[in-house]
Amino acid sequence: MPLTGSKELMRSINEKMVLREIFLSQKIDRASLARKTGISAATVTKIVSELIDEGLIMEVGESTSTGGRKPILLCMNPAYGNILGVKIGLGYLQLIIANLTGEVVTKQRIDFGENSEPIRISKLIKQFVEDRNRNHLVGASVAVSGSVDSANGVVLDSFILGWKNVKLGEMLSKQLKVPVYIMNDVDSFTTTHLWKGKLTNCKDALVITLGVGIGGSLVVDGNLYTGNGGAGEVGHMTVRENGNRCSCGNLGCLEAEAGFGALVNKIYRKTKSEKLSMMYRNFQNTEMSEMDFIKLALKEDAKVTGEIFEEYATLVGIAFKNLINIFAPEYLLVGGEALEFSGHFLEKAINYAKKNAFGNLGKRVTFDVDNFGEEAWTLGGVYKVIQEEMFAIKG
Ligand SMILES: [Zn+2]
Repeated sequence: MPLTGSKELMRSINEKMVLREIFLSQKIDRASLARKTGISAATVTKIVSELIDEGLIMEVGESTSTGGRKPILLCMNPAYGNILGVKIGLGYLQLIIANLTGEVVTKQRIDFGENSEPIRISKLIKQFVEDRNRNHLVGASVAVSGSVDSANGVVLDSFILGWKNVKLGEMLSKQLKVPVYIMNDVDSFTTTHLWKGKLTNCKDALVITLGVGIGGSLVVDGNLYTGNGGAGEVGHMTVRENGNRCSCGNLGCLEAEAGFGALVNKIYRKTKSEKLSMMYRNFQNTEMSEMDFIKLALKEDAKVTGEIFEEYATLVGIAFKNLINIFAPEYLLVGGEALEFSGHFLEKAINYAKKNAFGNLGKRVTFDVDNFGEEAWTLGGVYKVIQEEMFAIKG
């Protein structure tokens, strides 16, 4: 990569490249740093000693390589500062604080009920930081469902929160006095996997999350693809004309037909179990989530619930198939709370897609599932903060 510009800028770009390599490698010696970044050994040594003086990185023992003097390894200094990662879900906040190596130090889930006023949410987030953060805060990220303007920190449309053009970045930044990054929640999920999950060596991938909502994201050439902002709203493709009303206002979206809400309604309409019917009717007044209802339904009326999951598998399979035909990904990663029930639908959905996708496109896709669970939604935001504040090279 040709580097041009002033000496100061050069130094700063080299410094960022070194930091990025240390962060992603976790532990690396100086010679490997020079080799991987293409920066001369002398410059690496100089940058490393400056970064150690600043407290950003530290030496951690020796490598296990054999022969000759064992090189000293470097890593990010976890004590330098913390990063806050938040996901705002339907009625709850998922909060984590991670250190500079990306390791989660503390986490909490807060159920906030139905009042999702932005000011109230910001106060809850600030309270969490005051209660739990024990170090200098470097930055924060918030992942929300819906479309966001990441560059300006604005939530453009989040139907589940009832938000439109909410300047959450600015609002929270004033409260926390650090830079705040706003991301779409599935983009955060995908960023986690690009950083240290299932997509680290992947060029072209599709990510689909199934649960109360249905989301998606695209990876093109190893990078998250956001299009003109908001790409990947796979939950809002129409699968049935004049179908169920969706949270987005349309009829027959995939999410309205195959989100947990739709599953719950279908089970209720079909079941003869009195217990389930009673639970359903009391739904609004109880603490029970849609997830809890589906779990109960599997116990109380396995037959009907199984039939509903058969339909669900087909709908999900159709979505997989259509998306594979359009994007021909090498990899399709499935995440979300619905994985809890994967035994009831996933294999069937995958088989449907493999069988029905165009030509051999379906057979060429590797299907896989998320292995991070809830943290996948917030860790990507933590990575975003570290990347932007530590080593993003801006043009
Ligand atoms: Zn919709």
